Amino acid sequence: MRREIGAMPGCFNLSIDELVKEVAAAVGVGVRSVILFGVPDEKDATGTQAYAEDGITQRAIRAIKREVKEAFVIADNCLCEYTDHGHCGVIRDGEVLNDPTLDLLARTAVSQAEAGADLIAPSNMMDGFVGAIRAALDQSGFDHLPIMSYAVKYASGFYGPFREAAGSAPQFGDRRGYQMDPANAREALREAQLDVEQGADMLMVKPALAYLDIIRAVRERFDLPLAAYQVSGEYSMIKAAARLGWIDEERVVMETLTAIKRAGADIILTYFAREVAARMA
Ligand SMILES: [Zn+2]
Repeated sequence: MRREIGAMPGCFNLSIDELVKEVAAAVGVGVRSVILFGVPDEKDATGTQAYAEDGITQRAIRAIKREVKEAFVIADNCLCEYTDHGHCGVIRDGEVLNDPTLDLLARTAVSQAEAGADLIAPSNMMDGFVGAIRAALDQSGFDHLPIMSYAVKYASGFYGPFREAAGSAPQFGDRRGYQMDPANAREALREAQLDVEQGADMLMVKPALAYLDIIRAVRERFDLPLAAYQVSGEYSMIKAAARLGWIDEERVVMETLTAIKRAGADIILTYFAREVAARMA
């Protein structure tokens, strides 16, 4: 199954067999790493399919590691794609409960590690999420497995198209309670500091283009590898304007990626990866 995502032309929801082909093609043009976001058939209040041994992400990791041995597989770690209410954690009385959510994120990380993930990327913003995942991985014999924390994740309008892709728009409220205010720069450094103290091996800033100053600030403060995520809305804006003939897509893609790199990102997560790699090959 390949189902194009309406708001992200050129991006698809993929069944596992199609995913394996996609990853093989990406590796073939020089993309070494992929990150997986699972969309389960069944969603429930506690996101059970996020940590099920035969969950969609766990099966996908196993299939890629079996079929495309060179691929480096990153597992996104959150509950919002797996909960029927679309929030990133367990809810009671309309509030996300921090500590019960940490237990489920830790279970999710261990199940992803057991499936063969090379890197765990927790995108959840609960307090203490990196520490909880680190402890659970260490206790399960995965003390060598690195964590790339979405340390700096702003509450952003740029995530809109992804929520269509994952069917994960919150059914009530929003995520501002646990994502950061776009006006706040210093909080980004505090959040990153906490994640470093809890054992993060790599940091991430998300979104990218509207937060280049934050990428630069995190780069200057910390010496861990730094990733920046060019998110769905950044992708869709370029695609839409290019389709209307208003901008030169290839040129603008390279210009934005160059800006993100120039700001200090060591690693860029982008939906343009495969086509850019193909052009550069
Ligand atoms: Zn989430």
